[in-house]
Amino acid sequence: MVDLDKIISLCKRRGFIFQGSEQYGGLQGTWDYGPLGVELKNNVKKAWWKSMVYEREDMEGLDSSILLNSLILKYSGHQDTFSDPMCDCRKCKKRFRADQVDPNEKCSEGGLHDLTEPRPFNLMFKTSYGPVASEDSIAYLRPETAQGIFVNFKNVLDSTNRKLPFGIAQIGKSFRNEITPRNFIFRVREFEQMEVEYFVMPGEDEKVYEEWIKERVAWYVKYGIKPENLKTLAQKPEELAHYSKATTDILYRFFPDREGDKQFDEVEGIANRRDFDLTCHNKGGKLVLPDGTEVPNQHAVNKMTYFDHVSNSHVIPYVVEPSAGVDRAFLAFLMDSYEEETVNDSTRTVLKLHPALAPIKVAVLPLKKNKPEIVEFALSIKKDLMKTSGMRTVYDDTAGIGKLYRRQDEVGTPFCITVDFDTLENSTVTVRNRDTMEQERVSADALRAYFSDKIETL
Ligand code: ATP
Repeated sequence: MVDLDKIISLCKRRGFIFQGSEQYGGLQGTWDYGPLGVELKNNVKKAWWKSMVYEREDMEGLDSSILLNSLILKYSGHQDTFSDPMCDCRKCKKRFRADQVDPNEKCSEGGLHDLTEPRPFNLMFKTSYGPVASEDSIAYLRPETAQGIFVNFKNVLDSTNRKLPFGIAQIGKSFRNEITPRNFIFRVREFEQMEVEYFVMPGEDEKVYEEWIKERVAWYVKYGIKPENLKTLAQKPEELAHYSKATTDILYRFFPDREGDKQFDEVEGIANRRDFDLTCHNKGGKLVLPDGTEVPNQHAVNKMTYFDHVSNSHVIPYVVEPSAGVDRAFLAFLMDSYEEETVNDSTRTVLKLHPALAPIKVAVLPLKKNKPEIVEFALSIKKDLMKTSGMRTVYDDTAGIGKLYRRQDEVGTPFCITVDFDTLENSTVTVRNRDTMEQERVSADALRAYFSDKIETL
């Protein structure tokens, strides 16, 4: 299996991902998605939205704001608990996550590190809004998209007349001031999440939780991840976050060069959050901190309850949350699709991406670039496909045909069209399949139907 270094170099070389702020020496934990990266990332998000929202009967979408009133994060518990334990080295002044620093590591100032006791370090990015920075103008960049969903529960419920069970789905940026961003886009400070909060009657949560685990694993497999590179890991009761009744992580083999289970790490977490969040944000509700301290909610303006006609009572729904990282899913799809094959004594690098995810669906290549009729025909196919099918199609004439095929293989383009002399005679073109490398002759008029059969629209 491919290792991270090869993926990083492919990403930079072919324009999937660049270092954030590279021009000024970079900004650690940020990455910029380039021309191919933005296409792949959009496709990952669209595939998720299609499966989670469009193909289900019980889901609504949401796009809530990134800047949050600090009261949301006070009552969600993030202000008090969203932290990692940190140690500082008194000699080199560097800061480390307590569970990740090796006390026997050499210090750059000589000898071993001289570490302080671990102290909590809040992971949220604080900012201020309005012209004057003061205690009253503090806002936070959201550390997860989930809170925007919880505080809109009542708005969505009232505006859609939904009955339980139903879910709210959201995709968007989240920010965490991670102490040690690393492993490329695996752990970053600005990332995207795809989250569902699925609201159910208390008592139905355990069954629904199990169903979501199955559904989410199936989604990764549907879009191309090999089942042997996925694992589920149920957290032990003593490891659970204080709000969680049960949590299962979906792990992907991100680190194939490590030993045993260390090869796998989290791409998504599915949590049974009980009624914790809606109780925190409920008018007159309360936040219960991990040490049992209760913080009554004195600011919320709405009840976060659901009227159940069966029991004729107001209830606070339970919530099951499948929470995935866009960037980690992107990396998993990229790694899983990467193959090197020997073809005619040379190495062919190919991304066998699911066609729906591929950044470019079709590349149109002229056999001769100095033959105006061929070029014109090729360009017209490109234009037509882009316009009528919505499939990202490119035209390329900057090398010989063999090299052009290899370039498209390396970025996962499922089909290449070659326009040649016969095309001018009978309006047919050659379509080459990325995976089989087989070629077939197709009438130019039939191309749209040919591809719509083979490439799922998202
Ligand atoms: P980890 O234990 O790896 O820090 P987490 O358990 O804190 O992750 P969650 O809060 O459950 O993560 O967030 C849900 C998903 O969001 C994760 O499964 C992951 O895909 C993504 N995610 C979380 N933090 C980051 C990050 N710093 N960089 C990239 N993706 C992230």
